[in-house]
This record gives sequence, structure tokens and C-alpha cells, in this order.
Amino acid sequence: MRVKTIGKGRKCLFAIMLIAAALTGCGSQGIQTHTHNFVKEYWPSVPTCSSGGFYNLYCPDCGEEGGSGSDPALPHSPVTREEVRGNCSSPTILVKECGICGAELGRESRFENEHDWKTRISDPVWSDETGDFTVRKITYCSRCDICR
Ligand SMILES: [Zn+2]
Ligand SMILES: [Zn+2]
Ligand SMILES: [Zn+2]
Repeated sequence: MRVKTIGKGRKCLFAIMLIAAALTGCGSQGIQTHTHNFVKEYWPSVPTCSSGGFYNLYCPDCGEEGGSGSDPALPHSPVTREEVRGNCSSPTILVKECGICGAELGRESRFENEHDWKTRISDPVWSDETGDFTVRKITYCSRCDICR
């Protein structure tokens, strides 16, 4: 039963192949007008995102040449990379570049945080002026330690 089924399947496939051969015009060339099926053959290279590509057209069925042309470069594939990690005193720099060819497509900078101002009292320091230990009020940023 199983063998019979396979045999039937093969016959069927063979029939399809015959039909396909008839449709592609095998043996009927010269009678019917052959419709060229031009495909592009890029030379020296296919278009990439950094350069376009020149091509020649040819028909793979009969080898007929169909002229030449060029295609523009493909679009870049932008990815964003953090070049510098900033804080509240220096900005983070983000670079947008192509993940394939590495071309820089733009950059932006942004501050991660505002300064976080706080005040504290300094350790006592001797002052000749007053002849005593004095303390100072210090304003500082808790995030980046900028004093002012
Ligand atoms: Zn052709
Ligand atoms: Zn690119
Ligand atoms: Zn700060």
C-alpha cells in the first residue's frame, strides 16, 4: 500500500515537470518569440549603504545583453552608540552611526542630571584673621563634587 502511494506520487511529479518544461519553452525556441528575462549582474560589486552599484543586464536563458545602469546606494542602518557617558557637569554624547559601514550620521549631547546643590559646614580651620578656628559654608553638588 505504501509503495503504491509513493509510485503514484512520483508519476504525478513527473507530469508536473513535463508541463513546466513545456511552459518554459524547451524545444519551442525559434518558433515563439523568446521573451528575455533580464537580470542585473553587478560589477564590480553590489550596491551597499556606502556606495551604489553598476550593473549589466543579461538574459540568463539566451545570454542576450540588455544594457547597463546603476543603482543608488542602499540606506544606512542607523544605530545609536554612547560615545561619552556624562553626568551633571559634562554631557553624555550619543553618536548615531551606520551599523554596517560605520558612517557617522549625526550626534547629540544631553545632560543626564541637573546639579544637585547642597550646603555643608567645613571642618574648622585656623584663621589668623580672627585668631580662632572658623568654619565655612560650602556649596557643592552631591553628584559631581563641584564646589562653589
Ligand atoms: Zn533571452
Ligand atoms: Zn552604512
Ligand atoms: Zn553636578
